[in-house]
Amino acid sequence: KLELEQSQKWVELFVQKLETNKAYLNELDTAIGDGDHGTNMDRGAKAITESLSKKTPNTVSDLYKAVAFAMIQKVGGASGPLYGTAFLDMSKAVKTENIELSDLIQVGSDGIKRRGESDVKMKTMIDVWQPIADDLKSNKLDKANVDTALNSTKDMVATKGRASYLEEKSKGHLDPGSQSSAYLFESLVDVLG
Ligand code: ADP
Ligand code: MG
Ligand code: MG
Repeated sequence: KLELEQSQKWVELFVQKLETNKAYLNELDTAIGDGDHGTNMDRGAKAITESLSKKTPNTVSDLYKAVAFAMIQKVGGASGPLYGTAFLDMSKAVKTENIELSDLIQVGSDGIKRRGESDVKMKTMIDVWQPIADDLKSNKLDKANVDTALNSTKDMVATKGRASYLEEKSKGHLDPGSQSSAYLFESLVDVLG
């Protein structure tokens, strides 16, 4: 389980990666979507920083709730409510005593599936969240696993989200939401050390 200080570090690293890679996320979304995923997530990143600077959370649950609200209020698009739901559900789940990190990420993944009516193999962020939850369960999360999950989206045909309008033509491109989720879990690997 991640304590408050580690969780704060996790969110901080995620925010940094989103800001640094805004243009790249837009580029990925230009290929199979509407080109705004980087702009959306960068807006969310800045909202997270602003929210945390206004009020420092006292618990991990409050931290995740602040992330959720920033995402829901500022990211917009499909990804805002999905990340928002993941963090809101995790903010509730983390109140369970001794909850394992793998179970926490599973809760986030389930939240996205519920909210997005999605599952694995649809070329969405779930194709990163679910394998990472599984990797955590078997104690083998590292950056190579994150990369493997992200790259698995390349040859998928999208059946959810905007990329699904392209049908077969969505093949051969990374899913932008999977890339931003990969930043989230690379940040987690950094925190776990
Ligand atoms: P929009 O498509 O509204 O412009 P974004 O570009 O910010 O929103 O986010 C697109 C990403 O959201 C996709 O790359 C995909 O990973 C994710 N996504 C879209 N729809 C779903 C869904 N139903 N379930 C899970 N993830 C989804
Ligand atoms: Mg988009
Ligand atoms: Mg959009």
